[in-house]
Amino acid sequence: MPIRFPAPRRSSQGVRRRRNGCQGRLVLAVLFAVGAFFMYKMKTQKVINEHTGKEQVIPREVDKNYEIALGLQAMPQMVRQHGGEIPEENEYARLVDQVGHRLVNSSSAKNSGYPFEFRLLNDTETVNAFALPGGQIFITMALLSKLPNEDALAGVIGHEIGHVLGRHSLERMAKTDLFSGLAQAGGILVGGDMGMGGQQSAQVFHQLMSTKYGRDDERESDYLGVKYMLQAGYDPMQMVAVMRILKNASGGAGPEILSSHPDPGNRAEDIPRYIKQAKAELGM
Ligand SMILES: [Zn+2]
Repeated sequence: MPIRFPAPRRSSQGVRRRRNGCQGRLVLAVLFAVGAFFMYKMKTQKVINEHTGKEQVIPREVDKNYEIALGLQAMPQMVRQHGGEIPEENEYARLVDQVGHRLVNSSSAKNSGYPFEFRLLNDTETVNAFALPGGQIFITMALLSKLPNEDALAGVIGHEIGHVLGRHSLERMAKTDLFSGLAQAGGILVGGDMGMGGQQSAQVFHQLMSTKYGRDDERESDYLGVKYMLQAGYDPMQMVAVMRILKNASGGAGPEILSSHPDPGNRAEDIPRYIKQAKAELGM
């Protein structure tokens, strides 16, 4: 009697194995995503920002003292990276300090509890301004030397004060873990594992999300900057001049104030609308 071999089932097994692989990947991706959301909920809190009136999500158990400490800790490195600080005796350094405090004293920044400090950095290459959490604000000599007047300087500093009061660094800190968790989930789904394909799609996702939130932060800081200029008696239309200078200086990349572009050209177009809106808010 001939031996009967079982019919070959290789192809159907292959199909089943592939389908199981897909399902397994989906389950793993969902688990990653759920885990990321769970950790996000555990590690963050919702608060109303007293300066913008908006609800925002920041890390749990973080208060102003923590923010201030973070900024002070990072400050010396920022100064070192940009050619050191120009001392207060210098007339330009004094102007930066004066304009900064004029903006603070005429806005809600005054009673914010943040100890604002404004520094002029001796960097003649990098056209840039920055804010660290808690009120440490910097402008480089390269940017200052391009500004046409004090009002434009107030535009730059007002924008940076907006980042501090908007607590944008804390918002980013809160979202970082969530984004990387979701990016990993997306990577698993698309790439099958955390091999090259998966890692690349995870990176793209992470970048897209960070850029979207970065843009929102820039717009909010532009609006707040315009509002503080109005409150301090500066000409808010000079913010348009600031955008032009930054656009020319960047050549499409670079400065923090542009960091997660919207293109400064487009941002300039929004300024007249912000002025109208801020005047309405201030009853001017
Ligand atoms: Zn900015």
